[in-house]
Amino acid sequence: MTADPQTVEESPRPGTPLPSATLGGDSKGSVEQITLLLFITVPFLALAAAVPLAWGWGVSWLDLGLLVVMYYVGCHGITIGFHRYFTHGAFKAKRPLRIALAIMGSLAVEGPLVRWVADHRRHHKFSDAEGDPHSPWRYGETVPALLKGLWWAHIGWMFDEEQTPQHKYAPDLVKDPALRAVSRQFVLWTAVSLLVPPLVGGLVTLEWAGALSAFFWGSLVRVALLHHVTWSINSICHAVGKRPFKSRDRSGNVWWLAVLSCGESWHNLHHADPTCARHGVLRGQLDSSARLIRWFEKAGWAYDVRWPHASRIDARRKGKAAQAA
Ligand SMILES: [Zn+2]
Ligand SMILES: [Zn+2]
Repeated sequence: MTADPQTVEESPRPGTPLPSATLGGDSKGSVEQITLLLFITVPFLALAAAVPLAWGWGVSWLDLGLLVVMYYVGCHGITIGFHRYFTHGAFKAKRPLRIALAIMGSLAVEGPLVRWVADHRRHHKFSDAEGDPHSPWRYGETVPALLKGLWWAHIGWMFDEEQTPQHKYAPDLVKDPALRAVSRQFVLWTAVSLLVPPLVGGLVTLEWAGALSAFFWGSLVRVALLHHVTWSINSICHAVGKRPFKSRDRSGNVWWLAVLSCGESWHNLHHADPTCARHGVLRGQLDSSARLIRWFEKAGWAYDVRWPHASRIDARRKGKAAQAA
């Protein structure tokens, strides 16, 4: 990290506790719980209503374009930024890319950067054991217990009163003033994320109806879809999928989520080798996040990328039978 004069000036003196990187500190207040509930249920209802509505008054190419573009901006912000870069350090990034990834990930409306990273580091530390914030195996191995666990891993865990201590799990991010600011301005990024589609839709069509349908598809439906795909990594990818690699948890590779999850559903490899910049390491495993990281590297924005090595991958394979596969 480069220490420009501004950074040094804004850093608190040694000995003074660093301010929290999320508004409201490390605990979750009731206002935040209600907001969270709204942000989860409203887009989800929009998603549920989307299909019948599409037959009713249609969806324009503009709406679909906004949905796809905003979806993949936020999704890659999470997968490349929040996950592979900030959580696991799979590569190093020049300052402008570092800030851009923090903002892009915030547009996914999945909570402030520092909280996301702290939760996810705790997930890797305890994966599928006591202490994991979102294991689907939390309640046991029977079918009813797994169903309850899947619900917990998908959504329930976010309402848990117990918060991952940010200073313990993400001190590197908390001490960066710019990242702390991006993290604290989560409400602003949420507003930007939700308002860009209707703004574009309104300006292009010059009609309120155009703005409204762009808001419905580009904002609500898009956020709901992205939420459920991201959470599916926590729930589905820890319950089913192929496990060709050695990991001490139940993480699996789920092929049908690869395109929508920007390559994150090759989750078994990820738990076997968490700092690897590519998750889809086997032949034919699509990983758009890895492709973009490669482009960032070629452009000189990313460096010291931890690309997979054949020997490292082979060492993590299960048994001889898997090696032949
Ligand atoms: Zn996992
Ligand atoms: Zn991870």
